[in-house]
Amino acid sequence: MESGTAARSTEMNGASAPVADSIEVLNPATGSLLESVPVDSPEAVAATVARVRANQPEWEAMGIEGRYHWLGKLRDWLLDNQERVLDTMQAETGKVRADASNEPAYLADLINFYGTRAAKFIGEESIRPHTPLLAAKKLRVQYRPHQVVGIISPWNFPLILSLGDAIPALQAGAAVVVKPSEFTPLGLAEVIEAWKNEIGGPDVFDCVQGVGETGGALVDAVDFIQFTGSDRTGRKVMARAAETLTPVSLELGGKDPMIVLADADLDRAANAAAWGGMMNSGQICMSVERIYVEEPVYDQFVNKLTAEVGRLRQGADDGSDPKDVGAMTSPNQTAIVADHVSDALSSGARALTGGNRVEGLGDYFEPTVLVDVDHSMKVMRDETFGPVVGVMKVGDPEEAIRLANDSPYGLSGSVFGEREHAEQVARRVECGAINVNDVLVNYFATDVPMGGWKQSGIGTRHGEPGIKKYCRSESLVITRFGGKREPTWYPYSKARRRFLPAISRFFGARDWRRKLGFKG
Ligand code: NAD
Repeated sequence: MESGTAARSTEMNGASAPVADSIEVLNPATGSLLESVPVDSPEAVAATVARVRANQPEWEAMGIEGRYHWLGKLRDWLLDNQERVLDTMQAETGKVRADASNEPAYLADLINFYGTRAAKFIGEESIRPHTPLLAAKKLRVQYRPHQVVGIISPWNFPLILSLGDAIPALQAGAAVVVKPSEFTPLGLAEVIEAWKNEIGGPDVFDCVQGVGETGGALVDAVDFIQFTGSDRTGRKVMARAAETLTPVSLELGGKDPMIVLADADLDRAANAAAWGGMMNSGQICMSVERIYVEEPVYDQFVNKLTAEVGRLRQGADDGSDPKDVGAMTSPNQTAIVADHVSDALSSGARALTGGNRVEGLGDYFEPTVLVDVDHSMKVMRDETFGPVVGVMKVGDPEEAIRLANDSPYGLSGSVFGEREHAEQVARRVECGAINVNDVLVNYFATDVPMGGWKQSGIGTRHGEPGIKKYCRSESLVITRFGGKREPTWYPYSKARRRFLPAISRFFGARDWRRKLGFKG
């Protein structure tokens, strides 16, 4: 096998080629080789999980404040070493600096969010019994973490989508092992190295490197799997986890719609569509991929959008000459983007700007606006995950809602229009999160859950569910007082036979006739 890149492609295409013992990490902006990373064997994965598992009870025993103390040190390290972290991330993803810089900021905020709210979200609950029959019982629910959480992550946001899930899991008291994408293993490895050697954090947080085989070995070894990636791989992960009855949370692909109503602020809508569709070269699960615009404002909106996208500067962003749109991180994805665009163009669509893979150093696809598209085309049906938006004219909001919901995906979306009108329309879009007069921003609203409907996933991150999912609930039913025996216990006497139905009637009935033993 010539290089790790070749090995990775073979794996992703599902062929049964032998797995290489190292992966070669390339800079997608220039095509140059960055580093060769050794692959962890299934035995090495099992050993890493066993090691952090042994240390987990002590981590859990530290309590919420004790763990926040260590995660706070991680936050400080991320902020103090931001430039170093961004350099590594930019090199392995080919992102422009502005897109990369979202990651440390989000992570620092997330550490504070869960650190200060964990007690509310997963602290012990005291529950009042709903019936006087349980008056002698004290009811409590405690939340205990899964011992080891495995995180399998994609390449488009290498830290947000690995550390971002590790933070609530660690804050919950779990030990965590991450398998980052084979395309972007370096940034996370750098953070883990710092956790161990610069921060001196407890040995409950590690990573393993490799392709699908390493991910599969992680699924086998841990107690909970948090997976982010394509729905195709998500199905495999869920099937494998079923063999050990390991619970999973899956954050999968999207095909996010944007609706532009006739009463929208068209400048804001067009600028939002350009940023929401092209940010990170469109390699975002929540990217704006399809746009439905009401007929009276369609031409104006398309002109504004095309002008905005046409102005974007693309290329390697070395700091001296800032760029807006960077490289495609995975060559497999560039091939998918090119296929979707050529399928649309050959079926009658027109590219008002862009439309081609860029020749030369690095892997780039031009920011592209397609019109005259319809739902028979891949670009409006399948996840494109590139700097491409398709725009369709609709007769009214009802048609826009019908088309927005005509998708196997349901991750998120956006609606632009007069606020109350847009909100009404937004409530009818079938997805896990919707933005009104904004795009992508729901990801940073960590107060509320974010998860996909339909084939976009199972489970949620963020908010209370985003930390509770890493815990198992243990209900404690504690007898405050009681005699030698309860009325339900042996012996089954005649008196007991009369007593129990009378009691259940008295407390179960909602009218006095029945409570007192009469029929209705
Ligand atoms: P992918 O599914 O190809 O790979 C994701 C991860 O799974 C990688 O680490 C990969 O090595 C690993 N993997 C591959 N085969 C495996 C197997 N058989 N068992 C276990 N692990 C295996 O996805 P990708 O190309 O890295 O990322 C792009 C996809 O991720 C897009 O579909 C995108 O929409 C999705 N995504 C979703 C979200 C979300 O929050 N919903 C966020 C970002 C990306």
